[in-house]
Amino acid sequence: MTKRILIKGAAGRMGTNLIKTVASNPDTTLAYAVVHPEAPQLGQNVPEFAEVKYISDLSQATDFDVAIDFTSPESTLETLAHCQKLGKPLVIGTTGLNAEQKEKIQQASTSIPVVFAANFSVGMNLMFKLVEKAARVMGTYSDIEIIEAHHHNKVDAPSGTALALGEHICKALGRDLDEVAVKERNGLIGPRTKDEIGFSTIRAADVIGEHTVWFADIGERIELSHKVSDRITFARGAVHAALWLSQGPEAKLYDMTNVLGLDKL
Ligand code: NAD
Repeated sequence: MTKRILIKGAAGRMGTNLIKTVASNPDTTLAYAVVHPEAPQLGQNVPEFAEVKYISDLSQATDFDVAIDFTSPESTLETLAHCQKLGKPLVIGTTGLNAEQKEKIQQASTSIPVVFAANFSVGMNLMFKLVEKAARVMGTYSDIEIIEAHHHNKVDAPSGTALALGEHICKALGRDLDEVAVKERNGLIGPRTKDEIGFSTIRAADVIGEHTVWFADIGERIELSHKVSDRITFARGAVHAALWLSQGPEAKLYDMTNVLGLDKL
């Protein structure tokens, strides 16, 4: 049966790609397109779904199978509470959440299934596994650096994906990312410490998302890179996650590794 999807942030860069993806997938249809109260689209028809109007009042949106939210941390927590109240599953793509906000997602996932991923592309989820493997071979003796580039409108840094790469590397090495992450270097900072993981951030023009991880030893280095050329890749991954959730997995916090079956790789 066709699954009815609620999209929150429907007027955003990801939201418009999600609507296109839902429209082109025979297994999904758009139940609600929820936008910010000040969005110019409010009250208009969604171009791909003539029978659906852009709304801003989330409490009106009750008849759907799965919600997808790519907005801001505060807005995502509002969607989380709404889904919890209705007992509906939720896909979260929003990045930049702090530890307290992530804890709220963790708590809610004891009563509803949630897929929360820093990056919904298949390639990046494969890269999470590749960096774990590289870390196991070279991580104890090499200098590890993560370089990311995004468009000039991105508000959080380092990107959620860069931090997720750091977390996967730390998992493989038994390190705590909060202890070893170096997110800024400026002035007389002294020599590099052995275990640190450095993050470098580039913000420029319309770059959608690029991540490179260095494992650098004296005399050689491995560079693992992933580049996104179209946001549709994230939207396809998020809709895939929504369909996976609609099959009724138990209430739990999942990521794309679970959705794509990469957990055993
Ligand atoms: P964007 O600014 O283009 O879109 C966000 C939209 O959310 C805007 O239209 C904004 O008006 C809307 N919004 C904010 N508060 C709202 C509210 N209370 N109700 C309804 N709508 C609200 O940004 P974007 O590029 O689409 O990215 C959105 C988020 O998704 C960011 O956190 C970004 O980092 C993240 N993102 C994640 C992935 C991933 O794979 N996980 C990929 C791309 C972007």
